[in-house]
Amino acid sequence: MTITSLKDRIKQGLFLLDGAMGTQLIARGVEVGKCNDYLNIDLPDIVSEIHQVYFRAGSDAVLTNTFGANKYALARHGFGDKVKEINTAAAQIARRAAGGGKYVLGDIGPSGDFLKPLGNLGPEELKDAFAEQANALLAGGVNGFAIQTMTALDEVTIAIEAVKSVSGDLPVSASMAFDKAGDDYRTMMGVDVESAVTKMVSLGVDAVGFNCGTISLDEYVELAGKYVSVVKQLGKDVLIFAEPNAGKPELVDGRAVYRVLPEEFAAAAEKIHSAGVNIIGGCCGTTPEHIRAMCEKFRVSKK
Ligand SMILES: [Zn+2]
Repeated sequence: MTITSLKDRIKQGLFLLDGAMGTQLIARGVEVGKCNDYLNIDLPDIVSEIHQVYFRAGSDAVLTNTFGANKYALARHGFGDKVKEINTAAAQIARRAAGGGKYVLGDIGPSGDFLKPLGNLGPEELKDAFAEQANALLAGGVNGFAIQTMTALDEVTIAIEAVKSVSGDLPVSASMAFDKAGDDYRTMMGVDVESAVTKMVSLGVDAVGFNCGTISLDEYVELAGKYVSVVKQLGKDVLIFAEPNAGKPELVDGRAVYRVLPEEFAAAAEKIHSAGVNIIGGCCGTTPEHIRAMCEKFRVSKK
């Protein structure tokens, strides 16, 4: 079956992503702290079921269960030599769940370490690691890539360059995680919105975004406005995507709890869209109910 290429599809207007994977795995009995990425190998049915639930809720695309499937993050669980196997399996699981007409984005998260001199990583080896992951996702059939939750400008730069070196015609998006810093927003590594957007756009991504910040929904709406104005100033043809958490996490017994209700999430998504953001999904704490409420709200408002 031929479907519109993802690059063309995301330019046609609103494009809705899925919600959280991690919290859904935990809800299905997966132990906290387990290697979620290895579940693509040892519990593929659970991963597939979560993808299917999001597609039924109305998502146009899901992200592969590969947030921590680069060799450095996997090595912390003893799976550093399983990058190819895990990513290819994850992409195949998501592609099968998608069927025709729906899309799969290969999810690429941070290494969990820092580049030298702050950390142990050299730029070339880090680039190789991200390219290795992207290649394996490609082999499994992804329709595009989502580099996510980045906090350092040097790491996101290397990730984008690595993914673009293997992605061919497929679209590449990149997003960073912002916290509130006084009147402004900065990543954990101190990167402001203008520097983040300007850098990511200069590297030729198809979409720039933000996800997983420890901020409220109203603050996500404000952040969306800031992204839109920086992109406008740059005058580049680039899309913006947003994946807010289900509000600001509260720590209860050492676990992050997200209290935003599906209707509240949907209302914020509508405001983010009105600000000029066309690709919207949910990060931590969002459930199929949040995504369903969002999809329904947009369906009603489009009529
Ligand atoms: Zn998140």
